[in-house]
Parts: sequence; structure tokens; C-alpha cells
Amino acid sequence: MRSVLLDSRGQVVIKELPEPTLRGGDLLVDMRACGVCGSDLEKIRGGYTAAPPVLGHEAVGVVREVGKGVEAIQEGDRVFPHHHVPCYACAYCRAGSETMCSDYRRRNLEPGGFSETFRVPAWNVEKGGVFPLPPPLSFEEGTFIEPLACCIRALDRFRVPEGGTMLVSGAGPMGLLTLQLLPFYGAGSVLVSEVSPYRSRHAKRLGARTVDPRGGELGKVVREESEGRGVDLAVVASSSPQALLQALDNTRDGGTVGLLGIPEVGASLPEMSRLLTRELSLISSNAATERETRRAVEMLAEGAIEVASLVTHRVGLSEITKGLALAEKAEALKVVVTP
Ligand SMILES: [Zn+2]
Ligand SMILES: [Zn+2]
Repeated sequence: MRSVLLDSRGQVVIKELPEPTLRGGDLLVDMRACGVCGSDLEKIRGGYTAAPPVLGHEAVGVVREVGKGVEAIQEGDRVFPHHHVPCYACAYCRAGSETMCSDYRRRNLEPGGFSETFRVPAWNVEKGGVFPLPPPLSFEEGTFIEPLACCIRALDRFRVPEGGTMLVSGAGPMGLLTLQLLPFYGAGSVLVSEVSPYRSRHAKRLGARTVDPRGGELGKVVREESEGRGVDLAVVASSSPQALLQALDNTRDGGTVGLLGIPEVGASLPEMSRLLTRELSLISSNAATERETRRAVEMLAEGAIEVASLVTHRVGLSEITKGLALAEKAEALKVVVTP
């Protein structure tokens, strides 16, 4: 079977591998679709080191084989298997920092989501990390379960103020999912800051007022929308250090900046005293648990979040290099890889 891996030099290669060995409690899943995530691109660049570089985690497919002892899931089931699952028992998990659990990143799809077939470890299966895809959801829509769950966890952590003014920095897939989630949290007006006209058009279509942050307009528009104060909550769904600085500048005194995009490695805050003098809260959110994943599956199945139009490119496994290059482009949103 073919699988996309990072070799020892950090190059993306398509390899012919033996199928993973199924052990008790595991699942073998035939991949039907897997989204390209910004974190995959970060892993390829070598900057994102929170986990060993396994590529592909927004994967859905059909269960080909179930290991001994698996009862809740059967052969032929359409599933989304969460790649990382916490223990739900340690001090981190009990404190609500489940994605910081030492078990969380230890388990992963083997050899990764960009594979014709992959193994889901027994741990992930036992802890409830495998979700059946409800009938109305296509495989392609199912690839949004994991990114949507990450956005849900982020908005839970950022505590969206009822009726508050919002800024979403970045209208890539995560920004556009966040934009669609905000009404469910009771958010008031939402402004989207985005440099790409292509991505801005998508944000506009989803009902947001958009502004290009490069022309000096952003501050003016934010003040218009917020009676001169700045937004109550700015969600940074971009890896650009500029986006984070602009979010800090355009959030009201006492407001919150939520960090959802992975900042470029090496980016730092030039002036930290203003965090305190302006009583700004900076909250980050990393990945998601089964709690948010369940809600993501439900919301997608109900059609509450529109994802079909966010898929701009589809590539086969053999065209992965092209797919990864497309995912870097400002004229793309979600790139979905199929076998
Ligand atoms: Zn992802
Ligand atoms: Zn734990």
C-alpha cells in the first residue's frame, strides 16, 4: 500500500509499505479522504515539533478489519478516527488540559492519514476516539471533523462574550470555520482581517465584513465596529506574527486575544508590558478532545456548518506534492487527498 511520509531528511516521499499489523483492539481503516492541515505544512517545514512528524490526521474511511475484542465498531463502518486521544485520568486531563496529557500525542494513526490503509491503535478505540460518520455526511465533509473540533475547543477556551464585537484574523479554513461557529456562541458583529482577496470573498459570502490589514484600514474599521474601543475578542487563525500583533493592537483594554493558528517558529512579542497595562488576556488553544469532536460531528451532520464550499482542491495520493503546494497558496482553502 502507498503512504506519504517524511523521510529522514524531512522530504515528503510516497512509499510502498506493507500494511500495518493489526493487534487486539486495533482497527484497520481504508482511507477515503484526508484533509491537508496547516500543521502538516508546519511539520514539513520542520518547525512544528510538538509531535513526531506523522503526516495526515484529518482522515476518514471505511473499517476494513477490527482487532480482537472490538465490539462497538464493525467492518464496513464509515468512521472518523481521532489521531490523538488523552488518558482522561491524569492531572492534566482532570484539570481540563487533556491535549497536554502525556498520552495524547503518543498514539497516532499508523503510518499516518495520507495512506491507503492505516491502523488506529487500540488506545484510541477504547477511549472513544473513533466516531461513526452519520449517514448525511460525505467522506469529504468528514475531513472537517477534526479542524472543526479544534475551533470549538478554541472558542470554549476563549469564552466568547455574548453580543461582543469580534475580529477573526485569517480567513483560511480555520478562520472560516470559526466565523461560522461564532453565532452559536452569541457573538455580535464579526470583522475578518485577511490579505488574500480570494479568501476574503469566502468570508464575505459567509456574512462577514472583511478588511485587508495591510493598508492601515484595520484600526479604523475596528473602531467603527466597536464604538472606538477595539474588539472584545480577537481570534488569530493565522500563523503570521503580524496577525497576532494586529490582534493585540485592535482588542479593547481588558479584552481577549485567542491564539488558534500556530505562530511561525521564532516569532516573539516585542512589547509585553502592554499585556498587563491594558489587561489583555492571551489564551491559546491546541487541538481537541472527544468532547469537542462529538459536537463537531453533530454540527456537521445537522448542516449547521457549511464545509463543502471550503474544499477548493482534490488530489490523489500520488499527487501529494502538488496538493501540499496548493495548500500553501492564498488562492486555496481546503485541499483534500483521496487514495
Ligand atoms: Zn488539523
Ligand atoms: Zn491524561
